[in-house]
Amino acid sequence: MGFNTHSDTQLNIRITRESRRTITIRVLPDGTVEVKAPRFVSRAAVLSFVDGKRSWIEKKLAQTARQQAELRNTPPLSDTELKELQKKARRVFADRAAYYGPIIGTDYGKITVRRQQSRFGSCSVKGNLNFNLALLLAPPEVLDYVVVHELCHRLEMNHSSRFWNLVEGVLPDYKRSKRWLKEHGSVIIARICPAKDR
Ligand SMILES: [Zn+2]
Repeated sequence: MGFNTHSDTQLNIRITRESRRTITIRVLPDGTVEVKAPRFVSRAAVLSFVDGKRSWIEKKLAQTARQQAELRNTPPLSDTELKELQKKARRVFADRAAYYGPIIGTDYGKITVRRQQSRFGSCSVKGNLNFNLALLLAPPEVLDYVVVHELCHRLEMNHSSRFWNLVEGVLPDYKRSKRWLKEHGSVIIARICPAKDR
């Protein structure tokens, strides 16, 4: 599936009916377009809704295809590699937090590094920071972005414009890292959480 914008491209659509009020569309890793729709909306209306989201769907399909190709080229890490990465991770995150903490003007609690399926970082109310081991497989500026993001939550426990201004003040280019995570995040997570673990 490429960047094909002709509306005659055949989509693999699966419609499921639920007692819900809105239509949602999701592109699954295998390229299926999963549509969840309320029971009271006609099939024609659902398809026309899907057609209106065509360019978004095609962008998602292209992104999914790229991720799948990347995944085939990057095998999961072995247990030994994971152990070594975990050892290195402690030091890396401690260093980066110690570097950015004073710049942002905040302290923090304990740092933990875990293998996680969906989150790259979190910050507890007490200030404990938790990071995803997968970030060690990302470019250093992306890892830094997640560290800065969580440290900024020490000052703003939300994603308000004040929060993003804080992040931008430290990392003017943070949006690029955010985009990188969106596009490649699932691939680095797959490398530390092989399919058999899911
Ligand atoms: Zn956040």
